[in-house]
Amino acid sequence: MMRSWTWTHALSIAIGWIAASNALAGFLGNAVAANYAWPDAGALLYASGSAVVGTGLEFPSVGGANVTVDFSDTGFRITYPNGWSFNTVTPKTFDGWVISVLPGPAPELKGARVVGSNIPGSSSLQVTFDASHVYVNHLGFSSFAAGSYIDIAVDWPASPLLPSISIIYGVASDGIDRGLATNGTLATSVRSWNNWLRGQTGGRGLRVDSRNGLPDITFVRFNQTEAAYEANGVFIRDALEAELHARGYLQSGKIYALYYDGPASEHCGGASYPPLLPGQVGAFYLRGHFANPAIPPCSSNPFASNPTATPGYIELSMLHEIVHVLGYVPSCSPHQVLQGHVSDNQHDLMYADPVKPWLIEDAVLDFNHDDYYGHGRADCPDLADDPFLLPSDYSLDYVQKAYVAYYGRPSDPAGQAYWAGRMDAEGQSLTAIIGAFGNSDEFNRRYGGLSYVALVTKIYQQALGRSPEQGGLDYYVGELLAGRRTLQSITLDVLNGATTPPDSTVVANKLDVAAYYTAKVAAGCPYGTEQDGVNALSGVTAIAATVTAAKAAIDSRCGS
Ligand SMILES: [Zn+2]
Repeated sequence: MMRSWTWTHALSIAIGWIAASNALAGFLGNAVAANYAWPDAGALLYASGSAVVGTGLEFPSVGGANVTVDFSDTGFRITYPNGWSFNTVTPKTFDGWVISVLPGPAPELKGARVVGSNIPGSSSLQVTFDASHVYVNHLGFSSFAAGSYIDIAVDWPASPLLPSISIIYGVASDGIDRGLATNGTLATSVRSWNNWLRGQTGGRGLRVDSRNGLPDITFVRFNQTEAAYEANGVFIRDALEAELHARGYLQSGKIYALYYDGPASEHCGGASYPPLLPGQVGAFYLRGHFANPAIPPCSSNPFASNPTATPGYIELSMLHEIVHVLGYVPSCSPHQVLQGHVSDNQHDLMYADPVKPWLIEDAVLDFNHDDYYGHGRADCPDLADDPFLLPSDYSLDYVQKAYVAYYGRPSDPAGQAYWAGRMDAEGQSLTAIIGAFGNSDEFNRRYGGLSYVALVTKIYQQALGRSPEQGGLDYYVGELLAGRRTLQSITLDVLNGATTPPDSTVVANKLDVAAYYTAKVAAGCPYGTEQDGVNALSGVTAIAATVTAAKAAIDSRCGS
């Protein structure tokens, strides 16, 4: 028998502010995790004097002085609860703190300055910085009184924020933390709904904030009691989002999936629905409940048991709410009803009806692809074009191959994502985009003066590390001369023809190194010049040692 569900995921109405905050996740007074990183800057080390004494943040004590450093995304406060006396042995040039940004290839620090202190004469505190360190030098002082503090602000270069979804596990002030953020339950739940989505889209999932390859779950203890939030009724989501906003958790350009582990009346989830209902948070209420005893409580649903398990009610509801926050189902969709839902199929992820139940078995993403995913109309928002939706791994890999064969270098992350997105939009056919891909300034600059013989030879060298057989060379040059083939299509032929060793091994090794290079750039290492990219692959052959050497050279160039 099929289980069925009533429409228990009510939309809530946004209250009087528009979510558009530049505040970041870490702020003074908020105990952050030991692996917390300044945005885009990697981990931090702190040191007393010139010696690095440990990693981590919010460090509890140094020596007997119990000095603490409280980090935020934009600076830090050094506090001296027991005061501080300085070594007066001379000569000395430094007595203070070094905050280091590690590892190497991170954005350079652009500024550091004292912005507050209760130490008399604090204007003479010396704060200097270089690309990866802040030096707080107390030279010139003999002691600080107990309770002294220094606030330092740091500046980073502006970095583009990738549109991504951040996962939050929240409990009320009197709620019980069941450990779902850390015991893998929510990470599995997120992977389950994202895997389901990939199955519906040909491999495209939503970009979720991750750490070490797993969804990164932020734990939030809200300020009010369970009863206080529940008293908001259908507006509980608005209250939770307002608090997240006020406490600086919400970054503009991102959206948030909140698993709220508390009670809620008469619904299991809620979401914003821009532009009608502005906001950034979609929520599932793990302990939502209903006055009607015939409706099962939200807690009666199990979490997905593993990442590839068929998603259950919790997973599909969470994804349903996220899709609302992204602005779907738009009012221009032909079957749109009830503010952001569809009416044409009860198994649709976004189905809702006041009477007929939502059926989660055999769920589908946009039945018939005519309302909110893959409809292809330019005049109505389409989730298939949404920047929160990643290109498929299939297309990312294929585009990497095209870069290696055609340009002889690894892709840069932005270029790879762009072309893979276009390839996904064309039914994952590289053939459909290879003409545009290959017709570039870079091609004309580097290859524009070459003969057909030289061009075909270059493709073979870049893809396979060898020259073409005479027969193959003659054939392709003839095709180019006759105008029957393009160099782009020949590139695909050469790549796809490399199915046996050693050619297939060479291709695999070059792709391995190219992926390594691209990942380093995605992690902050500058791409360098086109020639840097070409150089990274030029020595890679079918011999495994050349892969090791090429990766070591990349590490060396990136400083890690
Ligand atoms: Zn809904």
